[in-house]
Amino acid sequence: MIIVLKRNSSDADVASVSEMVTTLRYQPRVIRGTEQTVVACIGDELNLQSLSILENLPAVEAVLPVQKKFKLVSREYHSTDSVVQVRDVKIGNGNITIMAGPCAIETYEQFHAAVRDLTESGVRIIRAMPFKPRTSPYDFQGLKSDGLDIMRRIREEFDVAMVSEVPGPDKIEPLMDLADMFQIGTRNAQNYDLLEQIAKAGKPVLLKRGLASTVEEWLTAAEYLIVNNCPQVVLCERGLRSFDPSTRNLLDLGAVAVAKQLTHLPVIVDPSHAAGTRRLVPPLARAALAVGADGLIVEAHPDPLKAFSDAAQQLESGRFNEFLDELAPWIELAMRERQRPQPTTS
Ligand code: PEP
Ligand code: MN
Repeated sequence: MIIVLKRNSSDADVASVSEMVTTLRYQPRVIRGTEQTVVACIGDELNLQSLSILENLPAVEAVLPVQKKFKLVSREYHSTDSVVQVRDVKIGNGNITIMAGPCAIETYEQFHAAVRDLTESGVRIIRAMPFKPRTSPYDFQGLKSDGLDIMRRIREEFDVAMVSEVPGPDKIEPLMDLADMFQIGTRNAQNYDLLEQIAKAGKPVLLKRGLASTVEEWLTAAEYLIVNNCPQVVLCERGLRSFDPSTRNLLDLGAVAVAKQLTHLPVIVDPSHAAGTRRLVPPLARAALAVGADGLIVEAHPDPLKAFSDAAQQLESGRFNEFLDELAPWIELAMRERQRPQPTTS
């Protein structure tokens, strides 16, 4: 941490601040400038008590942290791209992974048709959502235990990986044998108890960004997973709460670029929940790949008009191959780009 002293601070002020820094187990190094004096404090900010309490001293102007709040997630800790593996599917480090599936499991026939269409198009990770956390208690909440039964049947019929949202700790156990990857939804992105419980389950995790989380909060949420022995984390940008209703959520592609610089974890994009409407999904998907995303998670339903939730934004699963064909040049370019040695950024 760096402590900036006020302009008129005396030698006695510098000495007393340095003494307090030592008491808090950092080593002070006094740097006297022509205008102002700063005290650089050497010590592990993540493990030692914060020095921000010294902001209350009359001689102190500011206390500035130097270390980031996330360590295991950062590129300083692990410089090359990590690969997360969900069954035999690799995510990150040059792989472009497309996950897809309906917003929710609605009936056996609906889920069967979606999984059939999507696997025929080459999708290898399916959205399988028996539980739906919804903003309104009157909206469809998922089929719950009936959805789990459908998921179990479909798993027996198709050899494909499944990602399922875990809306609360009591849903970990029922999904344990069925899901290959756990999703933490935007509404739970800062539910630290849930993050810790999910980490203990030992499955790969898809961590959505909170709808008003800063990039630092998003990456620090991932740190909760890794520090609790869950290194298999994929980050997902899905759009933020904004002032503008033109899109359902404001897809923050800048945050994807920032996250790719700060972390070694794969970062994917959910264009569906950002768009809110089907016709915006392809352009947002293209933009996500162009900015550096390692993949996409897209909603697709066999008959979107009849969908119980998020009907407007779901692509038709029977035409998912058309979506992928249109996206193919961007996927190829993205893969070629990822394999090129990356210039160092400053
Ligand atoms: C979802 O992916 O099913 C979902 C509810 O998304 P989000 O948490 O991003 O709103
Ligand atoms: Mn949805």
